[in-house]
Amino acid sequence: MPKAKGIAIIAHDGKKAEMIAFMKDHAALFQNTKLVATGTTGQYVEQTGLKVKKLLSGPKGGDAQIASMVAEGKLQAVIFFRDPLGKHPHEPDVQMLMRLCDLHNVALATNPSTARLMVKGLEAETLPEA
Ligand code: PGA
Repeated sequence: MPKAKGIAIIAHDGKKAEMIAFMKDHAALFQNTKLVATGTTGQYVEQTGLKVKKLLSGPKGGDAQIASMVAEGKLQAVIFFRDPLGKHPHEPDVQMLMRLCDLHNVALATNPSTARLMVKGLEAETLPEA
Protein backbone atom coordinates (compact mmCIF):
# COMPACT_ATOMS: atom_id res chain seq x y z
CA MET A 1 0.00 0.00 0.00
CA PRO A 2 1.41 3.46 -0.83
CA LYS A 3 2.35 5.59 2.16
CA ALA A 4 -0.25 8.23 3.13
CA LYS A 5 0.89 11.66 2.05
CA GLY A 6 1.19 14.39 4.64
CA ILE A 7 -0.03 17.94 5.00
CA ALA A 8 2.39 20.82 5.54
CA ILE A 9 1.54 23.76 7.77
CA ILE A 10 3.35 27.10 7.59
CA ALA A 11 2.36 30.41 9.15
CA HIS A 12 4.13 33.71 8.98
CA ASP A 13 4.48 35.37 12.38
CA GLY A 14 1.57 37.76 11.84
CA LYS A 15 -0.72 34.81 11.12
CA LYS A 16 0.31 32.29 13.77
CA ALA A 17 -2.64 33.04 16.10
CA GLU A 18 -5.08 32.48 13.24
CA MET A 19 -3.27 29.28 12.29
CA ILE A 20 -3.58 27.91 15.85
CA ALA A 21 -7.31 28.64 15.96
CA PHE A 22 -7.65 26.90 12.60
CA MET A 23 -5.74 23.82 13.75
CA LYS A 24 -7.91 23.55 16.86
CA ASP A 25 -11.11 23.89 14.81
CA HIS A 26 -10.05 20.99 12.60
CA ALA A 27 -8.24 18.86 15.16
CA ALA A 28 -10.32 15.77 14.31
CA LEU A 29 -8.90 15.75 10.79
CA PHE A 30 -5.37 16.69 11.76
CA GLN A 31 -5.12 14.02 14.45
CA ASN A 32 -5.35 11.43 11.70
CA THR A 33 -2.95 13.15 9.33
CA LYS A 34 0.83 13.16 9.06
CA LEU A 35 1.66 16.79 9.76
CA VAL A 36 4.88 18.55 8.94
CA ALA A 37 5.61 22.22 9.64
CA THR A 38 8.29 24.85 9.54
CA GLY A 39 10.10 25.13 12.88
CA THR A 40 8.34 27.85 14.80
CA THR A 41 4.95 27.07 13.31
CA GLY A 42 5.49 23.47 14.44
CA GLN A 43 6.19 24.56 18.01
CA TYR A 44 2.87 26.37 18.07
CA VAL A 45 1.05 23.41 16.51
CA GLU A 46 2.48 21.15 19.24
CA GLN A 47 0.90 23.38 21.86
CA THR A 48 -2.52 22.32 20.54
CA GLY A 49 -1.65 18.70 21.37
CA LEU A 50 -1.27 17.65 17.73
CA LYS A 51 1.74 15.63 16.61
CA VAL A 52 3.84 17.35 13.97
CA LYS A 53 7.26 16.85 12.41
CA LYS A 54 9.17 20.10 12.76
CA LEU A 55 11.57 21.16 10.01
CA LEU A 56 13.89 24.16 10.01
CA SER A 57 12.46 27.58 10.74
CA GLY A 58 11.12 29.24 7.57
CA PRO A 59 13.88 31.85 7.19
CA LYS A 60 16.52 29.14 7.81
CA GLY A 61 15.25 26.89 5.01
CA GLY A 62 12.03 25.31 6.31
CA ASP A 63 9.95 26.47 3.34
CA ALA A 64 12.62 25.09 1.01
CA GLN A 65 12.46 21.73 2.82
CA ILE A 66 8.69 21.66 2.35
CA ALA A 67 9.16 22.61 -1.32
CA SER A 68 11.46 19.62 -1.72
CA MET A 69 8.85 17.32 -0.14
CA VAL A 70 6.32 18.65 -2.66
CA ALA A 71 8.73 17.88 -5.51
CA GLU A 72 9.27 14.36 -4.14
CA GLY A 73 5.52 13.65 -4.01
CA LYS A 74 5.41 13.36 -0.21
CA LEU A 75 2.64 15.91 0.45
CA GLN A 76 -1.00 16.04 -0.54
CA ALA A 77 -1.55 19.63 0.57
CA VAL A 78 0.21 22.72 1.86
CA ILE A 79 -1.58 25.13 4.17
CA PHE A 80 0.33 28.38 4.26
CA PHE A 81 -1.03 31.25 6.32
CA ARG A 82 0.85 34.03 4.55
CA ASP A 83 1.13 37.56 5.87
CA PRO A 84 0.94 39.81 2.80
CA LEU A 85 1.76 42.87 4.90
CA GLY A 86 5.07 41.57 6.25
CA LYS A 87 8.54 41.56 4.70
CA HIS A 88 10.15 38.14 4.60
CA PRO A 89 13.86 37.51 4.00
CA HIS A 90 13.04 34.07 2.58
CA GLU A 91 10.55 35.30 -0.06
CA PRO A 92 12.50 33.47 -2.82
CA ASP A 93 11.91 30.19 -0.95
CA VAL A 94 8.20 31.00 -0.64
CA GLN A 95 7.98 31.65 -4.39
CA MET A 96 9.76 28.36 -5.05
CA LEU A 97 7.34 26.48 -2.79
CA MET A 98 4.30 27.95 -4.54
CA ARG A 99 5.77 27.25 -7.97
CA LEU A 100 6.47 23.61 -7.09
CA CYS A 101 2.93 23.17 -5.73
CA ASP A 102 1.58 24.37 -9.09
CA LEU A 103 4.08 22.30 -11.04
CA HIS A 104 3.21 19.09 -9.17
CA ASN A 105 -0.49 19.90 -8.75
CA VAL A 106 -0.35 19.84 -4.96
CA ALA A 107 -3.21 21.64 -3.21
CA LEU A 108 -2.03 24.96 -1.77
CA ALA A 109 -4.04 27.26 0.49
CA THR A 110 -2.49 30.64 1.21
CA ASN A 111 -5.21 32.18 3.37
CA PRO A 112 -7.64 30.94 6.03
CA SER A 113 -10.74 31.00 3.80
CA THR A 114 -9.12 28.76 1.21
CA ALA A 115 -7.67 26.55 3.94
CA ARG A 116 -11.17 26.11 5.40
CA LEU A 117 -12.58 25.03 2.04
CA MET A 118 -9.64 22.71 1.45
CA VAL A 119 -10.04 21.06 4.82
CA LYS A 120 -13.77 20.60 4.26
CA GLY A 121 -12.91 18.63 1.15
CA LEU A 122 -10.33 16.53 2.99
CA GLU A 123 -12.76 15.89 5.85
CA ALA A 124 -15.43 14.73 3.42
CA GLU A 125 -12.90 12.25 2.01
CA THR A 126 -11.49 10.93 5.27
CA LEU A 127 -13.78 11.37 8.28
CA PRO A 128 -16.73 9.06 8.93
CA GLU A 129 -20.13 10.78 8.63
CA ALA A 130 -21.28 12.39 11.90
P1 PGA B 1 8.44 29.53 11.00
O1 PGA B 1 8.55 29.86 9.47
O2 PGA B 1 7.36 28.54 11.19
O3 PGA B 1 9.78 28.98 11.40
O4 PGA B 1 8.13 30.83 11.69
C1 PGA B 1 7.42 30.24 8.76
C2 PGA B 1 7.81 31.09 7.60
O5 PGA B 1 8.05 32.28 7.81
O6 PGA B 1 7.91 30.59 6.47
